[in-house]
Amino acid sequence: MEDLRALICEMEEYGRANHVPIINEKGLPVLLEVVREKRPHRVLEIGTAIGYSALLIAANSAEDVRIDTLELSEERAKVAQGYIERSIYSNRIKIHRGDAGENILKLTDKYDFVFIDAAKGQYPDYFRKLYPLLAEDAMVVADNVLFRGYVRGGVECPRRFRTIAKRLREYISLVSDNDEFATVIREDGDGLAVSRRLPRENAR
Ligand code: SAM
Repeated sequence: MEDLRALICEMEEYGRANHVPIINEKGLPVLLEVVREKRPHRVLEIGTAIGYSALLIAANSAEDVRIDTLELSEERAKVAQGYIERSIYSNRIKIHRGDAGENILKLTDKYDFVFIDAAKGQYPDYFRKLYPLLAEDAMVVADNVLFRGYVRGGVECPRRFRTIAKRLREYISLVSDNDEFATVIREDGDGLAVSRRLPRENAR
């Protein structure tokens, strides 16, 4: 098996050369901080790309972690599969090819950690669909929720991104107004919403 650090560097290079969006260098430490805090056993990732965040989540989770990761692009899923097979996590990460909105509905396990990082306009739909799959102590992290500053009105939003910005605002309200979760919006990178499901007795 290959050294994970070397593999990760190769993936960063592949991402740059092929314009594949992977979590940015300011958002990544936040993601890894919460994964290390949680040490999850069962992870759902929405948006695999080439498997970069999936491998890093695997490396920072509980030893028995299993990850389901959803990716629309056949080509990216194939590249991700290749990288994952070169790592020690090859039998811990399963890629589900196809539309995440459809594939979430086929899942039946309970997840204690979810990373949402796919179609930004679909975040509210993803959250509603994955809600029944959340373990009682689940943590849900969504990347890009402040999308280039367009979401909170700090930067004027071009017309073509207005629906995305609206849906991301809707996602933030959905998790922030939900009494079962405590949500913090981290401004690092493109903005991450970190939502922790509260123990029943502490639900607001
Ligand atoms: N999480 C990855 C990482 O940090 O390494 C990056 C994911 S990238 C930002 C978003 C991915 O979501 C893209 O590869 C894209 O093809 C995928 N995607 C977009 N729409 C999707 C959909 N409807 N269903 C599943 N995947 C989708």
